[in-house]
Amino acid sequence: MADVVLENLEKVYRDRGTEVRAVDRINLSVKDGEFLVLVGPSGCGKSTTLRLIAGLEEISSGTVSIGGRRVNEVPPKDRDIAMVFQNYALYPHLTVRENLAFGLRLRKLPREEIDRRVKEAAAMLGLDALLDRRPKALSGGQRQRVAVGRAVVRQPSVFLFDEPLSNLDARLRAGTRAELIRLHARLGATMVYVTHDQVEAMTMGDRICVMQDGRIVQVDEPIALYERPRHVFVAGFLGSPPMNFFRGTLTEGEGGPVFREAGSMNGIELRPDGEAARKAAAGGGREVLLGIRPEHIRLCGEGEAGASSVDVELSEPMGAETHVHLGTGATKFIVRAGPADRPAAGQKAHVVFDAARMHLFDPASGEAL
Ligand code: ADP
Ligand code: MG
Repeated sequence: MADVVLENLEKVYRDRGTEVRAVDRINLSVKDGEFLVLVGPSGCGKSTTLRLIAGLEEISSGTVSIGGRRVNEVPPKDRDIAMVFQNYALYPHLTVRENLAFGLRLRKLPREEIDRRVKEAAAMLGLDALLDRRPKALSGGQRQRVAVGRAVVRQPSVFLFDEPLSNLDARLRAGTRAELIRLHARLGATMVYVTHDQVEAMTMGDRICVMQDGRIVQVDEPIALYERPRHVFVAGFLGSPPMNFFRGTLTEGEGGPVFREAGSMNGIELRPDGEAARKAAAGGGREVLLGIRPEHIRLCGEGEAGASSVDVELSEPMGAETHVHLGTGATKFIVRAGPADRPAAGQKAHVVFDAARMHLFDPASGEAL
């Protein structure tokens, strides 16, 4: 088993005179046995980071260490890693058994050892009945399991996954997600998992590393990232429907800090709780971006204390809940309401905001206050 340490890691692609800084001096420590998810929008440098760990791209500067050993100059096959790609890359003319055994044959492992590992991986991944089929006779989910099996038989210290579930339909993705979590628990290997899907990141990661424009924005456990985002980018990226944001000013009021929404005559007025709000409001106040998740706003009756009056734009019944789209005049936002709460478009609605769940950000830098 092994940890993975990236120090000031940088990758610059040079393509006919233009430079792309795909990975911009990142520092990251993946612990031995950890399941770490690299997440971020398309093009933020996730795959490049993974390929630098694997040795499939040349490092521009910085170091990659695996199990305490600097591997910058070590070829991929000697790094004790196995990678699973989005497109599976199975050999079409080989059976499942041969696909699983292929890498081990290349390494000249003894016949009995290959058979033993193939059998074990097939049992672990539910492939026993499929061993004599070729990839074209398999479903997408089965092919995906063969691709994972090919990594498992290698018994690497580190597994690298690059969006391995992207080609599966939604239902299968959820099931396979759970399978991979069980596989990790069973093998105890270090896993670095790349995805653009925040649900995969939240449900699979021991920790999540959020990337943007080649940089790391925040690394933490899923719930910590969700509850205490240090940057507006993280706040808006994790969660569906996403966090709502309101622009305005925060000043000291009689009963504590007061947020007044900008951009509309009848903007909402909120009273955020907590130390950050008190500090920001002190000394004349300041402009802020106030964030609050859809589950921390509640529909209420007109007379309720602290209620804001807003316009209903749309109610989306999801079955277990309703996503109610509302507007203040300046800002559109979403409330996660009960299944029976379906205010009609064009009506007025009344909402209360949970004062303890408001996040404040600097509108210029995006940093949490
Ligand atoms: P992600 O996996 O997060 O979608 P990538 O790591 O694939 O992002 O790409 C990061 C950036 O590097 C993108 O701007 C992409 O266009 C660029 N890039 C990736 N591979 C190459 C390459 N071989 N040559 C030039 N630019 C590349
Ligand atoms: Mg990618």
